[in-house]
Amino acid sequence: MRLQDTGLTAQELKDMVNQYMIETYPRYDFIAERAEGMYLYDEKGEAYLDFYGGVAVNSPGNRNPKVAAAVKDQVDDIMHTFNYPYTVPQALLAKKICDTIGMDKIFYQNSGTEANECMIKMARKYGIENYGPDRYEIITAKQGFHGRTMGAVAATGQPDTAVQEGFGPMLPGFTYAEYNNLEDFASKITPNTIAIMIEPVQGEGGVHPAEQSFMEGLRRLCDENEMLLLLDEVQTGWGRTGAPMAFMGYGVKPDAVTMAKAMGGGMPIAACCASRKAAAALSSGTHGSTYGGHPVACAAALASISEILDRNLSENAEQVGGYLMKKLSRLPHVKEARGKGLLVGCEYEIPIAMEVKWGCMKRHALITAIGTDINRMIPPLIATKKDVDRLVEIMKEAIEEATEKYRRKNRAA
Ligand code: PLP
Repeated sequence: MRLQDTGLTAQELKDMVNQYMIETYPRYDFIAERAEGMYLYDEKGEAYLDFYGGVAVNSPGNRNPKVAAAVKDQVDDIMHTFNYPYTVPQALLAKKICDTIGMDKIFYQNSGTEANECMIKMARKYGIENYGPDRYEIITAKQGFHGRTMGAVAATGQPDTAVQEGFGPMLPGFTYAEYNNLEDFASKITPNTIAIMIEPVQGEGGVHPAEQSFMEGLRRLCDENEMLLLLDEVQTGWGRTGAPMAFMGYGVKPDAVTMAKAMGGGMPIAACCASRKAAAALSSGTHGSTYGGHPVACAAALASISEILDRNLSENAEQVGGYLMKKLSRLPHVKEARGKGLLVGCEYEIPIAMEVKWGCMKRHALITAIGTDINRMIPPLIATKKDVDRLVEIMKEAIEEATEKYRRKNRAA
């Protein structure tokens, strides 16, 4: 649907959103009407260079033609059914994913947070069934992010932020340890700990990649203590970090892993994949989802994953991501450019990240800000070095403008 078909002005549409929607998002001041490859187009047809990727979703490119064709094709056959009949897209996708990433089983969900709920429930039930009623505790990382439903919120190690604050008592059974600090994780293990759950790169927490020794150490800790290693790859999954799944790049296999975002290439779908041993905890009646494994979303995911694998977009992510980090590190006031593949963070020595984000938007480039000091780039994995050159030019201007504003404010204070 486009604005011109409604008879409304852009302002009337925005007013409608403000009047009727529960707004938890700081909105950009344009209406996204079309998208293609690396670009989003607004209601006036103006193009925006997309280094946001619909929050790391549109990995095979915005409105990838193969994903769009798969959706249209599936819509013509069957859109939704319940999860009792078999469906072709579910079966083909399950095999494709399990074979590609070396996991035994998959459970479909609709969003990243739901996939994490599934993984948390699986681990708790596995612990309780195999070791007794108290063995359900999970250690997660400080500054992690696992989603917005209550289990995932409790798993998110950010007790003093808006993610947890004001929502009453958290689901018990989670302890938080310092990311990339193996000793701290080891020190938090009790006889009731059944799992360790982390992101291979902390995305929302400021773009912090796990060190190789940390990942290997966590695997060792889990093996030595009969615990499960759970990885949240909602953001890192499917090509973003330079490997099909980030854990494959580390050569560290989890007992269960979640995925979403890039998986559907723009359609809402997520999953929890697990080893046979962990997956056995969930049996008939113990877990379910009306829409999980939706045929249209599965058809889209099959096309999205095939595009990412067939076009080797993970390798492109690694190369272009490396180039982006190098260029960002030379920009004024940049303290550090870090990340893995095309999950890139740019940390400043002054608090200008928000201003830089808005400055980029004004110049028609989309990036994200984490807190006051960090910008994050999570573009489609088809991004080229030329796209990076353009973005960095825009960021340079936005940084200069934001710095000037910051200095003026400081002088006035
Ligand atoms: N886990 C991680 C690592 C994420 O980055 C996100 C979202 O950004 C989530 C979970 C939640 O995913 P969703 O918003 O699809 O529920």
